Amino acid sequence: MGTVTLDNLRKEFDNGNLVAVDDVSLDVADGEFITVVGPSGCGKSTTLRMLAGLETPTSGSIRINGEDVTNVHARKRNVAMVFQNYALYPHKTVEQNMAFGLRMSTDLTKDERTERVRETAEMMGIGDLLDDRPNELSGGQKQRVALGRAIVREPDVFLFDEPLSNLDAKLRTTMRTEIQRLQKELGITAIYVTHDQEEAMTMGDRIVILDDGELQQAGRPTDVYDDPANEFVGGFVGSPS
Ligand code: ADP
Ligand code: MG
Repeated sequence: MGTVTLDNLRKEFDNGNLVAVDDVSLDVADGEFITVVGPSGCGKSTTLRMLAGLETPTSGSIRINGEDVTNVHARKRNVAMVFQNYALYPHKTVEQNMAFGLRMSTDLTKDERTERVRETAEMMGIGDLLDDRPNELSGGQKQRVALGRAIVREPDVFLFDEPLSNLDAKLRTTMRTEIQRLQKELGITAIYVTHDQEEAMTMGDRIVILDDGELQQAGRPTDVYDDPANEFVGGFVGSPS
């Protein structure tokens, strides 16, 4: 279960001289896949970081499953973030990397944790890599481990920050399909940031377009394409003018 509500979420830097996220409001339904797209510097990562509890909002609020988590510590929020640079521990094995988040966030026994890591690794097609270390893996394998580490925790909400932008085009297409399959199979609520408008349009149940910290439009990809809210959106998603 994972609903998310952002209410006038705002983040200023530099003593208010820079508004990175400008009063963004959004309702995300349970199991929904939201893609967030916009040019570099438009506030995508800052929005995700506030959701993850890695950045404190200047004003506004965040609710997850109805509970106000605006001031709740990152570790106490049941969200998982997947980054483009994988953020794996280099000296730990795949199994240890995947088990790490689990140890922090659940009260399972060691055997139960091992079992869950193994099951998830099998599902992700990395069951035979459990004893390897990150530097022995390809980029695609590392991203699978990073994804598996998030999934094994069974979080309420998945946050993706341009997870595929370090991969080559072919692998990116494979991983895109894989993420969509897992998302639908597991009924995951996902907020997926990308600067790739094609990725946003094909993956999202709904697409959110940001520009200069402001939410320009949120809607189903076909609706946004057919009926863009303004010129910026139309240009960005390639609507015929
Ligand atoms: P995006 O992910 O869409 O590229 P970001 O959310 O990273 O954009 O950044 C939005 C704006 O906030 C940018 O102008 C960026 O320079 C600024 N910014 C982000 N993080 C910080 C920070 N820690 N301190 C100061 N400015 C920041
Ligand atoms: Mg970013």
